[in-house]
Amino acid sequence: MTAALPGLRTTPFIDGAFADVGGAVESLLDPATGDVIASVSPASEAQAVAAIGAARRAFDHGDWPRMPVFERGQVLAAIADAIRARAEDLALLECVNGGKPLTGARREVAGAAKVFTYYAGAMDKFYGDTIPVSETLLNFTLREPLGVVALITPWNFPLLAAAWKLAPALAAGCASVLKPSPLTPLSTLLLAEIIESCGVPKGIVNVLPGGAAIGELLASHAAIDGISFTGSTATGVAVMRAAAGTIKTVALELGGKNACIVFDDADLARAAKAAVSSAFGNAGQSCSARSRFLVQRSAVAAFTEAVVDEIAHLKLGSPLDPATTLGPLISVEHWNRVDRAVQAAVQGGAPLVAGGRRPDDQKTGNFYLPTVFGDVSPDHPLSRDEVFGPVCGITAFDSEADAIRLANASDYGLNGSVWSRDLGRALRVAKAVRTGMVAVNGLPSASSTSLFAPFGGYKRSGLGRELGINALAFYTEVKTVTVDLS
Ligand code: NAP
Repeated sequence: MTAALPGLRTTPFIDGAFADVGGAVESLLDPATGDVIASVSPASEAQAVAAIGAARRAFDHGDWPRMPVFERGQVLAAIADAIRARAEDLALLECVNGGKPLTGARREVAGAAKVFTYYAGAMDKFYGDTIPVSETLLNFTLREPLGVVALITPWNFPLLAAAWKLAPALAAGCASVLKPSPLTPLSTLLLAEIIESCGVPKGIVNVLPGGAAIGELLASHAAIDGISFTGSTATGVAVMRAAAGTIKTVALELGGKNACIVFDDADLARAAKAAVSSAFGNAGQSCSARSRFLVQRSAVAAFTEAVVDEIAHLKLGSPLDPATTLGPLISVEHWNRVDRAVQAAVQGGAPLVAGGRRPDDQKTGNFYLPTVFGDVSPDHPLSRDEVFGPVCGITAFDSEADAIRLANASDYGLNGSVWSRDLGRALRVAKAVRTGMVAVNGLPSASSTSLFAPFGGYKRSGLGRELGINALAFYTEVKTVTVDLS
């Protein structure tokens, strides 16, 4: 075991209390050292069913869904404050459990608190309409809480992903059962304790550390009304299938293969800085990572040089060192997956510009050098498949139409960037790309993503939007009321 972790909780949180024991104990490893940091009891199937039952009771008979929205909002504001009060504990858990550089982990914790602050004041601004159906009928709609929601989160942004789902779910008056990734459950379990301490009634928030079987159970269970899932596209397909049997409302935040389009009139130094920050932030383990650099042919050499210069400024090392900007990959298995994709590209003849291996000075831990391939063809696996590691490829384009065609030649449609000093051209391209989000001459990072704006993807990158006022649409049902005035 490494140093004691303040706020360590290791068992399922069900009906307002941490269970004494779950199923068999599983060890969590520090991705930077390989040391065991904690032993977690994953939820058993019986515990998952108990959590769903507790959420159902709390929703069907409890106070939370019936509380005035302003009062619920005040509880969310208290949760935001309580997260800020435990910020260092949460950041340390994200850092040691997820391998996140501490500085970035602190930003993510601040972002999680901000989400609760945002939704604390959101629900009294999200209401129904009055619809002029006829002179003799008064017709209006009500927004009512969706019910019991299952929330399934991945390992790459565990606390943020939990906050993005729990805050609007709580604001809307839903009850929830949250399953974090078994690789990174610690910050979510501490979040459950924080939420409970702020007066959220028992049963409204339940957290089940556990694997795919628990996720499947949640996705198919008849007592769950809706499911908000963040993870890979392949698992999203399985979740949608499982949810179909009981016609659940489904929201999916899935993978991405995002393009960063750079025209030759762009500020290449700024574009390269942003491209590197996006491709290698969180060690490339981000759905929004721009891993396809589409560069106008005349600028390829200069842009590649600028990217290599920028990479030299990344500081790879212990996530606990506040100066570190590039931490390890989440697990040995994931390191092997990333390396397999890189070695296949090398063997296939893709020109390696930087990286492609473990750093010489990191003998332990799941570290991988920031890796860039030049001249990657558009149909190469590096252009199509999400590697989910610090790996990107540069592809040349010749015209605006060519850039748009290449950007859209992907099954994914999550995020992207356009760089050009010709704002008309930049905006034409931004409109033409089939992605849920696009940045023009700049790059909002994950933790500074605006809470006011919708976040989500087109095509196989997902269904629905998180954040912003739109997210409340998922966590509510619309009821139409018609009054006969005659
Ligand atoms: P994943 O393998 O799809 O897992 C996501 C979650 O689903 C985990 O908690 C996982 O548990 C669970 N799960 C697995 N099989 C399931 C099933 N059949 N039914 C229900 N739940 C199931 O994804 P990941 O590897 O954790 O995360 C990386 C992926 O997430 C990437 O593709 C990334 O792009 C995507 N992502 C998207 C966004 C976005 O906002 N669009 C944000 C972050 C990440 P187990 O771990 O036990 O399998």
